[in-house]
Amino acid sequence: MEKVKTVALIAHDNKKAEMVSWSMKNKSALEKFSLCGTGTTAGLVADATGLNVTRYLSGPLGGDQQIGAKIAERVIDAVIFFWDPLQAQPHDPDVKALLRIAVVYDIPIATNKATADCVIKAMRE
Ligand code: PGA
Repeated sequence: MEKVKTVALIAHDNKKAEMVSWSMKNKSALEKFSLCGTGTTAGLVADATGLNVTRYLSGPLGGDQQIGAKIAERVIDAVIFFWDPLQAQPHDPDVKALLRIAVVYDIPIATNKATADCVIKAMRE
């Protein structure tokens, strides 16, 4: 039997509404995966979709770093990361580190809806 893949969900504050609507739209795809996310994002997606989403710490408090560590441990298979290109983030070094580690381990990391649609579609096939 194939291992259930794990997808991490992260959205900066101005992108949370987009993440919630994207996750509702893609609920039937997302329920095939084990889900996790940074604290606030995970809570919002779980509330909106009724799906189980493992909550790490909030991004600015270390959640991005926790997800980065899980990528390095090969526990996370893909990341949907709606970062905000229009606002500076207090945890910008953590954001960069997360993007970097996803490249190091060559896992899909979707940073906008168009790419997230492609990644989720490809992962189901
Ligand atoms: P949050 O973290 O889901 O806890 O808001 C996201 C982030 O800002 O990295």
